[in-house]
Amino acid sequence: MSDKANLRIVLANPRGFCAGVDRAIEIVEKALEKYGAPVYVRHEIVHNKFVVDRLRDMGAVFVDELDAVPDGVPVIFSAHGVPKSVPEAAETRKLEYLDATCPLVSKVHRGAERHFADGKHILLIGHAGHPEVIGTMGQLPPGSMTLIETEEDAEKLEVTNPENLAFVTQTTLSLDDTAKIIEILQRRFPSISVPKKEDICYATTNRQHAVKMIAEKADAILVLGAPNSSNSNRLVEVAKREGCTRSVLVERARDIDWTKLEGIETLGITAGASAPEVLVEEVIDACRERYDVTVETITLTEENVTFKLPRQLAS
Ligand code: SF4
Repeated sequence: MSDKANLRIVLANPRGFCAGVDRAIEIVEKALEKYGAPVYVRHEIVHNKFVVDRLRDMGAVFVDELDAVPDGVPVIFSAHGVPKSVPEAAETRKLEYLDATCPLVSKVHRGAERHFADGKHILLIGHAGHPEVIGTMGQLPPGSMTLIETEEDAEKLEVTNPENLAFVTQTTLSLDDTAKIIEILQRRFPSISVPKKEDICYATTNRQHAVKMIAEKADAILVLGAPNSSNSNRLVEVAKREGCTRSVLVERARDIDWTKLEGIETLGITAGASAPEVLVEEVIDACRERYDVTVETITLTEENVTFKLPRQLAS
């Protein structure tokens, strides 16, 4: 008989890779096949070290800015999107570029452009410094957008023409926090234009609802994801607010502080949209070394979203 304690693992479904991340990784892989190494990638293609290291081993070179890309080699823009100035600079240098911007981020860009064409001032709800926010703000001339990060920002906002406002959001925000910010904006500026459809994407939405389902059952939750991954950090916050206060972000199994899991009977596991399933399996294996484990999956919905590759790589 085993002397290990029992541990019930509840896995959230959906978790991990979304269609935008799948597409971005496939773009790098197919570009390496088509052009051969090295293929340059501006910024981390998705926010996950494991994914980036694997692609680097295959011949991808990750750089912070276009200036670091030599002439004559292809360059890929990350899933988070880029300011318009970036493809413009690539065109000036006659670099072949492949745009791995998630189509759902591009949709937000086009929405912002439509509002701008209608003469509106745009509020972007998002987190300062995140590449997606930098990319979205860079779709329009400076001064066309104001960033709103918090409820306090929404309360304090002063605008010259309150009748002429619209808002868009980052795709990976907390649904609950964003709803509160939107409520304040709509109360203060009743004629503000709202997006036709929610900008927070299906993958963020599903993963937040699914983590709530496991938070009801779990004594602690591990969220697989990178410290700079917006949607992964939001999953930790959502789980904590749902009452599962022992929820933490971990990049790999080796980062788990097992002392913090002492005494638990049920462990929830989920993963941000840029964290591969192999890292979830690694965590389950690490649990098996310490506990007698049973695994159960709690399914919110099955996702079947896919996005087309850029025309240069479409077969
Ligand atoms: Fe696209 Fe959403 Fe995935 Fe971001 S999280 S890449 S917006 S599907």
